[in-house]
Order: sequence, then C-alpha cells, then structure tokens
Amino acid sequence: MNNFALPFSFTLPTKIVYGPKCIASLIDELKLNDGERPIIITDKGVSNAGILDKITALLKQNNINYIVYDGVEPNPKDVNVEDGAKAAREFGADSIIAIGGGSPIDCAKSVGVLIAHNGDKIKEYEGKTAATKPLPLLITIPTTSGTGSELTFSSVITDTENNYKMTVKSQYTAAKVAICDPELTLSLPAHITASTGMDALTHAIEAYTATCAEPISDALALYATELIYNSLVTAVNDGSNLEARSAMLLGSMLAGIAFSHSDVASVHCIAESLGGVYDLPHGVCNAIFLPHVMEYNMEYSVERYARLAKAMGLNFNSESEGAKKAVEAVKKLTVDVNLPLFSSLNVNTDDFEKIAEMSVKNISTESNPRPMTKKDYLIVIK
Ligand code: NAD
Repeated sequence: MNNFALPFSFTLPTKIVYGPKCIASLIDELKLNDGERPIIITDKGVSNAGILDKITALLKQNNINYIVYDGVEPNPKDVNVEDGAKAAREFGADSIIAIGGGSPIDCAKSVGVLIAHNGDKIKEYEGKTAATKPLPLLITIPTTSGTGSELTFSSVITDTENNYKMTVKSQYTAAKVAICDPELTLSLPAHITASTGMDALTHAIEAYTATCAEPISDALALYATELIYNSLVTAVNDGSNLEARSAMLLGSMLAGIAFSHSDVASVHCIAESLGGVYDLPHGVCNAIFLPHVMEYNMEYSVERYARLAKAMGLNFNSESEGAKKAVEAVKKLTVDVNLPLFSSLNVNTDDFEKIAEMSVKNISTESNPRPMTKKDYLIVIK
C-alpha cells in the first residue's frame, strides 16, 4: 500500500562517519565538538575483545584524559545507568563515548539524560516527554550490527524493581556523532552475529510494515532488508569477511534509522517483555517470534511482504506468492544461522499470560499492521 499522501517529518540529528578504520576520526570529532574529558561507557565483552584498548590508545596518543565505566550488563539495568552517571560526575566528564552493542549505547544515552537534568533515578525520565534537555556530547561507536542504537533516539533500560524494559526517548536522546567502523565488528562471535543480525532484520521488516511507516523509512527499510538478508549467513559462517561485516553494519544502521522514524511492532513488544522478565538476549527473542508474527500479520501485509521478498531477491509470480516466500525465507534464515528454539529458553508457561499482558501494553502494539489483543499475543506466544 502506498503512503505518499500521509504527512511526515524526518530529523536525523546524528552525524554518521562510516567505513573500515574510521575509528581514527574519533579524535577529530572530539576536537570539533569540544569534548576534552570523556567518560567511556562500555562492557566487559567489548573490553575483552580488545576494542577498548584500541580506542583508549588513540586517546592516550592525543593526551586526552578519560575515564572508563565498563560495568554495563546485557539488557542494561537502571543501576548501571546510575553508576555510570556517578562515575561521570566524580570525574567531571564533559562528554560521553559509548562503545559496544545496544546495551552500552543505551546505557550511555541514559547517563547523558541524568547528567543533563542533574537527576538521580533514570526511572523519572521514562517515556517520550521527560527528557527535556540537550545531552552532553555523545559519540556512539557500535560494535554489533543489530540495534541501530547508535542512530536512534531510544534508550531501553531494565527497571530492576519491576522487571520490565522501559524506554527513555526524546528529541534530545540521539548521539551527536556515530562512528561506524565495520572492523570493530570482526570479533563478534557467530551466535551474537546471528542474533544481533536478526534483530536488525526485525527492525527493517517491522519498520516497513508498521502502520506509521512513511516513504523515507520505507526506502531505508527495503535497502536494509536487502543488505542484511544477503550478508547475514556469510557474516555468521565467516566472521573475518569484511565485506559481509560492512554490509551488516550498514544494514543495521539503515534499519535503525528506519524504525526510529517509523516504529517497531509486535515482535519487539514480545521480545522486550521476555527480555525484562527473563533477561534473555534481545536479538534471540526477536528472531524466534519474527516469522510467527509475520504469519499472523499476513492478510494485512501481503503487498508489503511481497516488496520485502523482492528486496531479498526472491522470485515470485504473484503478490501472495511473494508474501509467503518472504515469511518462509525469514524462517529458513533463523535455521541457517543456528538460532535457538523458543523451547530452549526455558520460559515458564505460567508466565505466558504476564508476557502477553506486558506486550499488549507496549505502545508499539499500536504500530502492528494487524490489531493485537492480549488473546492474540497468547496465540502467537504459544
Ligand atoms: P549487547 O550490547 O548486549 O551485546 C551482546 C554481547 O556481545 C555482550 O556480551 C558484548 O560484550 C558482546 N560484544 C559486543 N560487541 C562485540 C564485539 N565486537 N566483539 C565481541 N563481543 C562483543 O547486544 P545488542 O544486541 O547489541 O544490544 C541489545 C540491547 O539493545 C537490548 O537491551 C535491547 O533492548 C537494546 N535495543 C536498543 C535499541 C535502541 O534503539 N536503543 C534498539 C533495539 C534494541
């Protein structure tokens, strides 16, 4: 369905620097933006992969004083944000460098929110209206090809008192600069390449089929689908293949911009609920439910699924055939990249009601092409 008559606006406040070895431009970007005393926010996995050392070496060579907070956990917790903000204040940081996947980048955005508002508890900034002040200089450096967080406005943080993932988001919560160097993703293990890559594909597909999709997000989502679908298996099986890694990073960046201007939908609503209650990897949850939700949405999305099939390079004779082929292709991809089955995640069936309840309350349920009730979520989850 064309959406040319729908009004939209499109703002991308983040400067993108992309390319192998472009990490060297970090120093120029700090200087251009008066960042003299950065706090680096990252996690132990990124540090153990040698990425942190590479970046701190650049800072040392240029006599830039910095501090590292590497305590970010997967599905970053409110306490990580509060600890990071405390470290930043004690050091007198004037800027933030986020290095990692979505977890450190989201944590860094929320650290910026606390610093900008002189706040203590990130919970107070939940939602789309509470963060009202510009963040200190934030430079994002992605090391996974998945969330697109380096280019989005969202920061997804687990509320540890209530075990759910809240979103902190406003016009101010995007990075000033994203330095996207595919070489930094070469060390990503195969299983994380697979799950984060499926997260990126989910962004592209949900952004393209969401009720609020608009022409620019459509263009980004279709190209992202082409790049991700055609390079994920190679990136998983041959992690040193820079061409596949580059295509994956570009695909995840485009998908990130697409969904942050359109939206995600029911796959993400389920994944975020499961992530909050069971602390499961976000990409794995998305990968498991993507084909099921696509099947559920089929009759509302035939034309758009057929366009996605075309972007994937599939051949078909009618829209309905193309739409079915798109769903089958996504299902096969999850098998080809060895993603775990839902049964292996040990989700207690007693919690299905709770997961369905949380999913239906997620604001992105409204963006799903087919209306979803709690009962509908239960059908998909079971
Ligand atoms: P992640 O950041 O949790 O990283 C997963 C693991 O990979 C970690 O152990 C990390 O140390 C390791 N790792 C990262 N880069 C590596 C590298 N190059 N080499 C070796 N190991 C590496 O995973 P993610 O999927 O990128 O982020 C997930 C989080 O992002 C979730 O909390 C999710 O809700 C959130 N998210 C945010 C947005 C957004 O727009 N802000 C969008 C989607 C998801």
